[in-house]
Amino acid sequence: MSEAQLQIRGLRKVFSGARADVVALTGVDLDVARGEVITVIGPSGCGKSTLLKIIAGLEADYEGTVELDGLPVHGPGSSRAVVFQEHRLFPWLTVAQNIAGNQPLRKPAVRARVEELLRVVKLEGFATAYPKELSGGMAQRVAIARALLRDPEVLLLDEPFGALDAFTRSHMQDVLREIWRVRGTTMLFVTHDIDEALVLGDRVVVMSPRPGRIHEVLPVLLPPLRDRASAEFLELRAELVRVFGAIATGDEGEKAAA
Ligand code: ADP
Ligand code: MG
Repeated sequence: MSEAQLQIRGLRKVFSGARADVVALTGVDLDVARGEVITVIGPSGCGKSTLLKIIAGLEADYEGTVELDGLPVHGPGSSRAVVFQEHRLFPWLTVAQNIAGNQPLRKPAVRARVEELLRVVKLEGFATAYPKELSGGMAQRVAIARALLRDPEVLLLDEPFGALDAFTRSHMQDVLREIWRVRGTTMLFVTHDIDEALVLGDRVVVMSPRPGRIHEVLPVLLPPLRDRASAEFLELRAELVRVFGAIATGDEGEKAAA
């Protein structure tokens, strides 16, 4: 039996179009260990969101297998939660109501859980605020709290900080690392940002487009608290820039075709 918590085998996803079919993913194999943080990076359109949606159970029509603790994933379930780039909060609900979702806030256990999550994402005192009163970073923290409500085994994040300014983004990365340190939640984190991939990931999965597949998996052998200015960090960064550059300019495609 494999030790992987999440096991992906032979994943292939084709979108049928009116004029042509799009092969969004092909030959994707990935094992994710319990408590591991995988960052997924790749050019736009390489199938990152499709991969996350399949794991989330939001995309049913595909080839291959996705197993969580040895059981095939069928449809959405509380074992997996997703955070999207836009916070997707309901504007007419308070922060606490957004986090609680369909669980009744009048129940003391639910209220206590929501308060705990507000502390986790450092938003104590904002329970009765409305989304329009929050900054982008705060709204994304509410979205993270909402995703953690049912204590998912795997947290899936699709460019969650992509719309935030650099300062807020770096703060949010710290918040997420702290959540991971305390809870040990397995995470798959999609990003466009090379630094973000290296700050958060235990391994970086680099994807190449058309058709989307895993090009390379780069282990990030750095201490848990990442120092962006360290020689080791900058060395890995240079390596990732090189890999990424080769994909973007299509050198790899030519190599593959040759
Ligand atoms: P990424 O998140 O890496 O930017 P996506 O997973 O969103 O990429 O998309 C991968 C490919 O699949 C793209 O070529 C995209 O146009 C196509 N695609 C994604 N979703 C659909 C859909 N619902 N219908 C048709 N094509 C889609
Ligand atoms: Mg995407």
